[in-house]
Amino acid sequence: MSKSIAINAGSSSLKFQLFNMPQEDVVAKGLVERIGLGDSIFSISYGDDQKFEVVEDIPNHEVAVEKLLEQLVALNIISSFDEITGVGHRVVAGGELFKDSALVDDTVIQQVEDLAEFAPLHNKAEAVGMRAFKHILPDITSVAVFDTSFHTTMPKKAYLYSIPMEYYKKFKARKYGAHGTSHRYVSRRAAEMLGKPIEELKIITCHLGNGASITAVDGGKSVDTSMGFTPLAGVTMGTRSGDIDASLVAFLMNKLNITDVNEMVEILNKKSGLLGLSGVSSDMRDVEAASETNEDAKVAVEIFVDRVQKYIGQYVAVMNGVDAIVFTAGIGENSKTIRARIINGLTWFGCDIDPERNDTRSEAIISSEGAKVTVLNIPTNEEVEIARDIERLRK
Ligand code: AMP
Repeated sequence: MSKSIAINAGSSSLKFQLFNMPQEDVVAKGLVERIGLGDSIFSISYGDDQKFEVVEDIPNHEVAVEKLLEQLVALNIISSFDEITGVGHRVVAGGELFKDSALVDDTVIQQVEDLAEFAPLHNKAEAVGMRAFKHILPDITSVAVFDTSFHTTMPKKAYLYSIPMEYYKKFKARKYGAHGTSHRYVSRRAAEMLGKPIEELKIITCHLGNGASITAVDGGKSVDTSMGFTPLAGVTMGTRSGDIDASLVAFLMNKLNITDVNEMVEILNKKSGLLGLSGVSSDMRDVEAASETNEDAKVAVEIFVDRVQKYIGQYVAVMNGVDAIVFTAGIGENSKTIRARIINGLTWFGCDIDPERNDTRSEAIISSEGAKVTVLNIPTNEEVEIARDIERLRK
């Protein structure tokens, strides 16, 4: 039996999940937060509800990886580092270069760093995480899994913006999408649950978390997705605006006396979406609760539902049909009210939700018996998809 570890490195954090493979059992999972910021918090949960937590200074990702591996041994979760035979790193931006997950070597790490202009905070931290593992465990299978790879099957008509072609040719200015690992996992799982080959299915996957994106999956391939050049585009999110008219950027900069365009983009990324609309919170639970009495919160929820419905409508048109709609991620998996509101506006397409079946947070078919479109709730599992990629690419 071998163990593989899935790593998700952020600018000041490192999340991990350790699996027994090929059984896919989760042996331990945890998080190092505030790396390089002092008072770092390092936590691991394992076994039967056992928990380890310590607050100490962890200056960089290399030290975080060292501490993590040492602690796994100290807690008897592994007997030695040798037990770990694979590591998979989640990478946000793979550009046009990475059409699939890739075995990590020095060239790949360099390419991930070179792609940092598409995701400045993320790709740099992810490259640091890869180097740290290469340094400490040089001989294990190391795989990079890109958020964008699943969307590299989009046709030109979907990924090109209607701007001068030379901007695409010179600067690669185009739609890349995100959340690809999640859309890949839930679309495959949906096909399994429906007992049909994915090649024969048209599926719309709705990843509705703090970040949210909708993908049209035709025959197992992403043919369009709502996020764009960056994860700012698409539906309304926790703090991100989603799609807006680009002219608003110039108009608002003028009104707000903002001279640095990055400041404006920051507002669209961090102060917009549910937070900006409701003035209450970026968290859907808070916004839903406030919507009972607060008009702005009420309209924020209405806008969220409306934008998701519109993307689903678009993708029915893109694929000229839909067999299944999948909900996943924090809001998608947990909010039966949001799911019901979205689906109840799509009855013309042949959607019909079953209120009893919809009363769930687990994997389930939630549409009514005989409905033309099957609606499913599928908790996402990006980590297991990463662990599977390690197995698939292992030499
Ligand atoms: P994620 O980014 O996938 O962790 O999702 C985070 C989002 O899921 C936040 O907006 C949460 O408010 C939302 N969420 C989690 N549980 C629920 C729930 N029971 N009802 C509504 N939203 C929820």
